Amino acid sequence: FELSIVKNGKSMYFSCRLSPVIRKKTTIGKTVVINNITKHIELLNQLEKLASTDSLTGINNRRNFIELCKRELSKAKRYSRPSSLIFMDIDHFKNVNDRFGHDAGDAALKNIVNLCLGSIRDSDIMGRLGGEEFALFLPDTDIHEAIILAEKLRCKIEANQIEYSSYNIAMTSSFGVFGTRHVNQFDIDLFLKKADLALYIAKENGRNRVET
Ligand code: GH3
Ligand code: MG
Ligand code: MG
Repeated sequence: FELSIVKNGKSMYFSCRLSPVIRKKTTIGKTVVINNITKHIELLNQLEKLASTDSLTGINNRRNFIELCKRELSKAKRYSRPSSLIFMDIDHFKNVNDRFGHDAGDAALKNIVNLCLGSIRDSDIMGRLGGEEFALFLPDTDIHEAIILAEKLRCKIEANQIEYSSYNIAMTSSFGVFGTRHVNQFDIDLFLKKADLALYIAKENGRNRVET
C-alpha cells in the first residue's frame, strides 16, 4: 500500500510492503519494507501539470480545457442547467509581434489572460485553444449572462494598456458567444463550433465586438 504524510508543510509519499516471516509453518514475525517515493510522485505531478497547462500563460491547454468542459457539460445535462461558451481571439495580433517583437507579444498574451482570470468565477473554465485564441466555458450561465461577461472582457481589454519596455501596447479582441438551456442537444465540439462561427461573424463585422 501507499501512504503519504505531511512533514513541515511538505508532502512525503511512501510505498510500503509487509511480508510475514514464517518458520516451520508458523508466522514468527513480519518484515516491513518502506520506500520513499516522494521524488517519483513529484515528477508524476509535474508531468501531469505539463501535459495539462499552457506553458506561457499557465491556463488549461486545449486538451485539458476540452476534458474539463466535458465533465462540466455532463453535470449540466444531469441537472438540466444552462451552459455557455465564449470564444475569444485577439484582433490583429500579428501586428503586435511585428511592431513590438515576439517577447512583447508573449507579455501581452499573459497580460490578457490575467485580465480575464480576474473577471471570471472560480467555476468558469478558461483555456488557450491556440496562438491568440482562448475559450471560456461558463457552467450555470445562460446566453444573456455570457454576453454580459464577454462585453465586460471586451471593454477591459480595450481599456487596458500593456507596458512593455518603453512601449504602451493597446489591443482589442473579438468574441463569439454560444449558450443554451437545452444542453442535452449539444456536445462540447458543437459548443465550440457554434461559438467559433459567432467569432467569425464578429471578425467579419469589424472586430472588437461580441456576436452570438
Ligand atoms: P485577426 O484579427 O484576424 O485574428 O488577425 P491576427 O493577426 O490576430 O490573426 P493571425 O492568425 O493572422 O495571426 C495570429 C498571430 O499570433 C500570428 C502568430 O505569430 C501569433 N502568435 C501565436 N502564438 C503566439 C505566441 O505564443 N506568442 C506570440 N508572441 N505570438 C503568437
Ligand atoms: Mg487574432
Ligand atoms: Mg486567431
